Amino acid sequence: MKHPENSEAYKGLTVNAGIEQPSSVNPYLHTRHKRRQLGVTEYVEGIVKGDVTILSQAVTLVESMKPEHQTIAQEVIEKCLPHSGNSVRIGISGVPGAGKSTSIDVFGLHVLEQYGGKLAVLAIDPSSERSKGSILGDKTRMEKLAVHPKSFIRPSPSAGSLGGVARKTRETIILCEAAGYDKIFVETVGVGQSETAVHSMVDFFLLIQLAGTGDELQGIKRGIMEMADGIVINKADGDNIDRAKLAATQFRNALHLFPAPESGWAPQVLTYSGFYGLGVKEIWDMVYAYVAFVKENGYFEYRRNEQSKYWMYESINEQLRNSFYHNPVVEKMLSEKEMQVLQGKLTSFVAAKSLLDTYFEEMKR
Ligand code: GDP
Repeated sequence: MKHPENSEAYKGLTVNAGIEQPSSVNPYLHTRHKRRQLGVTEYVEGIVKGDVTILSQAVTLVESMKPEHQTIAQEVIEKCLPHSGNSVRIGISGVPGAGKSTSIDVFGLHVLEQYGGKLAVLAIDPSSERSKGSILGDKTRMEKLAVHPKSFIRPSPSAGSLGGVARKTRETIILCEAAGYDKIFVETVGVGQSETAVHSMVDFFLLIQLAGTGDELQGIKRGIMEMADGIVINKADGDNIDRAKLAATQFRNALHLFPAPESGWAPQVLTYSGFYGLGVKEIWDMVYAYVAFVKENGYFEYRRNEQSKYWMYESINEQLRNSFYHNPVVEKMLSEKEMQVLQGKLTSFVAAKSLLDTYFEEMKR
């Protein structure tokens, strides 16, 4: 049947044959083939020159789970080691909402302006293990720093155990230092274990706190406070100033109850406002006074050596654990032994021993 729209009355509305449309896919796409994998020397040379693109690519390798990437990454790290170490590493911790990103943005600009050099902001976020994504260290949270030519921001590596994530961040520190970043911030959320990991890789541990209900000391773990070289109470602005000052007094009193830190430095408590940029200079005067103090008394060097030792053992532990749990024979036996322990057929020790014996036998093959 003739379509009514093709009748004379509708002339002008008839559908003409269209013209051939070009493909929406870029025809030259295939020529822009995958990025060539750089060699170890190219990575190292690029990093030492301060090439940010190459540095980012190397960090991606460090974070990769693929064994072939890990092999290159380890070589790159080893070659970068002699160029590393020349920096001040600062851990910054605080519960979500404490104002870490606002503060790091302001702190970063301040130290770059005041002391020059280059700043890398890294992060350790244990929650990213579950969510497979991390917001800490995210560029969008640090608006001004993100566009600063002397800053390099990298979110937390997201895969693996806290130990694994922490190791990757530590390796990233080495790459950043080799690339000339002489100020390193490592951000973490104030929830416990991750602080210990950050504390084990920084020279100064800064704890951001808020004035709250008057019993803020109860909320924070003793261990975390003991790690702090400086406690800063944020949001000391508007009608919050008095409460912040009160909280500072309470923290100061609480700190007196702890044993004197090994560094010989008495941790200080300051109030500030990241949002309004108040009291920021005092914080960084304190940090740099600390650095001068511990460089003078030898603690700086001592702590870095202790940290290297700690990381050597951490690294051994992690690799042994991986090797054990990823051994195919062990993997198969694990759930069976676990079941036997749960059913009371085997004691935990006997089960562990038989698994380990199997593993050692496997290793001899
Ligand atoms: P983070 O979760 O620790 O990174 O905290 P954010 O930096 O995202 O800050 C959490 C909220 O506190 C935001 O709404 C900020 O605007 C606010 N904030 C941060 N610093 C200050 C400050 O110094 N004063 C006040 N009044 N608010 C602040």
